[in-house]
Amino acid sequence: MDFTTAFRSAAENAADARSRELALNLATVHERIDQAVSRAGRADRPELVVVSKYFPAEDVQRLYELGVRDIGENKDQEAGAKAAAVATLLAESRNSSSAASDSQRAELSQNAPRWHFIGQLQTNKAKSVVRYAHSVHSADRPKLIRALDTAAVRATAEGMRSNPLEVLIQVDMRSPLPEDHRGGAAPSEMLSLAELIASAEQLRLGGLMAVAPLGEAPAPAFDRLKQLSQLLAEEHPEATAISAGMSQDLEAAVSYGATRLRIGRDVLGERPRR
Ligand SMILES: *Cc1c(COP(=O)(O)O)cnc(C)c1O
Repeated sequence: MDFTTAFRSAAENAADARSRELALNLATVHERIDQAVSRAGRADRPELVVVSKYFPAEDVQRLYELGVRDIGENKDQEAGAKAAAVATLLAESRNSSSAASDSQRAELSQNAPRWHFIGQLQTNKAKSVVRYAHSVHSADRPKLIRALDTAAVRATAEGMRSNPLEVLIQVDMRSPLPEDHRGGAAPSEMLSLAELIASAEQLRLGGLMAVAPLGEAPAPAFDRLKQLSQLLAEEHPEATAISAGMSQDLEAAVSYGATRLRIGRDVLGERPRR
């Protein structure tokens, strides 16, 4: 059964109105992904990371119950608190069901949500992020990469992590690139950052991430990103991830080879004002 059909039928059996809305939105997003994949003639299919920023832990629990495992967040404070709250909610819902058994609890920890950190990250937040993140998509400078490795090594020694942290290099795809660029490395910095990640003890180089430049058509930027990814693969064949594509430019990202889409709005709805 394809994702669209599966989520439509999950909507029929949804636990509450919000779960039904999320399931229907997921069905629509997956239908768009399938259409874009077939238009692009791709044999593979990108993964979906659902971006839950601004939305409560209860929505992540609903997404989890619908089968979503990859969750994106862009601020450490919100993400850390939400990851802890979701873990508690999921454990409580398993414990309160009379059938909860040790094997179900073990399965829950095997099958825990994977948190993707996708926002600008200050170096002093590395310690916190490595405690809950499966992946950081936004590594863009040596100091941050070193801080993530140091923190991941420590968290592993303390039993807080069991796998190396996946790290993607965020590149600023504006062309020409402004002098004062931040929120993404220059394409010319990519290979040296890749080397630093690949040689770190507790980091695993996943690939590249980019946000389409504001006020420009996304396609040329995603095209440059694809070429950069091919360059990266010559040195690091395992680093195949291309994290690109948000609600409004999902189709363009798929047509330029995105392997991971980061979708918020079109699954969860308009973000509430804070
Ligand atoms: C918020 C955010 C997204 C999701 O954007 P939507 O327009 O809600 O789909 C993707 N990537 C990053 C880096 C974000 O901050």
